[in-house]
Amino acid sequence: MLTVDSLRVTYGGAVEAVRGVSMEVPDRSVVAVLGSNGAGKSTLLRTISGTLRLHRGRVDAGTVRFEDTDLTRRDAGQIVRRGVVQVPEGRRIFGRLTVEENLRAGGMGNRDRAAKAKAVARVHDLFPVLRERAGQRAGLLSGGEQQMLAIGRALMASPRLLLLDEPSLGLAPRVIGQIGEVIAEINRQGTAVLLVEQNATMALGVADRAYVLDVGRVSLSGDARELAATDEVQRLYLGHT
Ligand code: ATP
Repeated sequence: MLTVDSLRVTYGGAVEAVRGVSMEVPDRSVVAVLGSNGAGKSTLLRTISGTLRLHRGRVDAGTVRFEDTDLTRRDAGQIVRRGVVQVPEGRRIFGRLTVEENLRAGGMGNRDRAAKAKAVARVHDLFPVLRERAGQRAGLLSGGEQQMLAIGRALMASPRLLLLDEPSLGLAPRVIGQIGEVIAEINRQGTAVLLVEQNATMALGVADRAYVLDVGRVSLSGDARELAATDEVQRLYLGHT
């Protein structure tokens, strides 16, 4: 479904953040990208979603293909219309708007009213708390609820591939577990997911396949369960000695 081939990305013409990465997200799968701070995970997602330019980054080589379309260097808007939608790092919800208004903002590109109503119903079924809090200011939600809102807002654009940047960041373990369950459910409903995470336990629990990035390169990749059993992942990412 998504194929990244020999991708190289730099910032300001100097910092090479991604150094020849190739990876794939098969149709209807969940793929995790793990790696420590600065490994290039966010840069990879920004390149796929077309937001790299906002961060002064540039694709120097390689391609990003989504099905039959070359997405490399396309605008974020065009990429969303193709069905690839990112939940940004740090959630970026509109704190002064209500929960309902945030969701509506996510569905703005969708003119079909019936499709929009269906998307809202899907989001409310996945996150009942967003229905209960529909009229409340989004800034008053807890961290976990804000992450749920950010995911719900992205789902309003009816993505076929959902990109998630560290959804577990700053959340309590119980809430991280809930986010993991929701990702699995979204995937069961037919949406493919590319999940960037530092929390390897959650990511490998929900993913079919995974890649480990190390200073801009893929150092390990394979079946998520098999990767979780390797010494390197146990030691570096799962906290076992
Ligand atoms: P983190 O979890 O800390 O976000 P990451 O794996 O997502 O880490 P990136 O954010 O992609 O890593 O960063 C990869 C490299 O690119 C790092 O060396 C980082 O300092 C650099 N970098 C990221 N964004 C920019 C930017 N806007 N300008 C310059 N350098 C950047």
